[in-house]
Amino acid sequence: MTLDYYEVLEVSRDAAGAEIKKSYRKLAIKYHPDKNPGDKKAEERFKLINEAYDVLGKEEKRRIYDQYGKEGLERQGAGFHANSMDDIMDVFNSMFGGGFGGGFSGQGQQRDPSAKYALDFEITLDLPFNEAVFGVEKEITLSYKAPCASCHGTGAKEGKMQPCGYCEGRGQVVMRQGFMTFAQECPKCQGSGQMAQEDCHACHGAGYTTHEQTVKFAVPAGIDTGNRLRVAGYGNENKHGQRGDLYVTFQVEEDEHFVRDGNDIYIVVPVFFTQCILGETITIPSLDGELELHLKEGTRDKEQFVFKGKGVADVHSGRKGHLIAQVKMILPNKITEEQKGMLKAIQESYGVESRPHKSNFESTFERIKGWFKG
Ligand SMILES: [Zn+2]
Ligand SMILES: [Zn+2]
Repeated sequence: MTLDYYEVLEVSRDAAGAEIKKSYRKLAIKYHPDKNPGDKKAEERFKLINEAYDVLGKEEKRRIYDQYGKEGLERQGAGFHANSMDDIMDVFNSMFGGGFGGGFSGQGQQRDPSAKYALDFEITLDLPFNEAVFGVEKEITLSYKAPCASCHGTGAKEGKMQPCGYCEGRGQVVMRQGFMTFAQECPKCQGSGQMAQEDCHACHGAGYTTHEQTVKFAVPAGIDTGNRLRVAGYGNENKHGQRGDLYVTFQVEEDEHFVRDGNDIYIVVPVFFTQCILGETITIPSLDGELELHLKEGTRDKEQFVFKGKGVADVHSGRKGHLIAQVKMILPNKITEEQKGMLKAIQESYGVESRPHKSNFESTFERIKGWFKG
């Protein structure tokens, strides 16, 4: 099976870096394990998306891939070798690091090679439309990892270790690809060169136990899908009792009537055709109560009316976007004989204006006549 990284990220082969990044973000959020608990297919897809981005997101790797394909990357030892979900999450986290909520603290946090997990972690949170617009105080329960107390995080009974049998304690294994060889981190011991003599009974060799905790944090007004918030000190715990950070990525739910585009809000306003023609002031909903919409005489279908500053507050600057009301002209579903008579009378009163197709096609009728004269 050939798997094309461009197809995985749903971009064309000549897509610009920014486009790849954008598509990756969208897909990574969609298939994030937190959003699809227990869904193996989504998890596989998530892994694949991160693998593809690990290559296409880097200029040099992408160049090799374009020229020599996946095998080319393998030959150069630049292929994607994720041993665990943590490695996958590293790609994800490094990508989302530049997002909302300031820098990624994880960058300063060198990964301890004997650690079984990353200290920072990420969750995706669904947010109702109104909570995203106005901001909200959230309280969620989550589980984090901490070193197993019985084995001090080693995963080994009584902490007793022995050299890894797979790499003979070197932490690296040599892989052969054709006539080329290259060293790779040992997949059994994750490069530490050590493994347990016997698995710790308390954590079944995992080296950590999970703990539940309730976290409270404020979601600022104006948050949007893909925005990320850092909640310092609520990540996983290391051997020294220090906690990493929790990153919350938001997925904002859609509203029945309001459609959000950045800081602007669109609303479709159904207007009966006679109201459109005659003009009328009607009341429409807005984010902060009712608004008066002055439909002028001769309002057109799909015409837009902009209410400045009635949109969503920008999550960084607080400056508000606009509310845009778009008219949807509604025609009657049925018509009585009496109404038909009245409408015919109106139509007659307009004379030639009521037959725009005639004047519009006049010259065309003349022209096509000429085509058949031969
Ligand atoms: Zn243990
Ligand atoms: Zn090993």
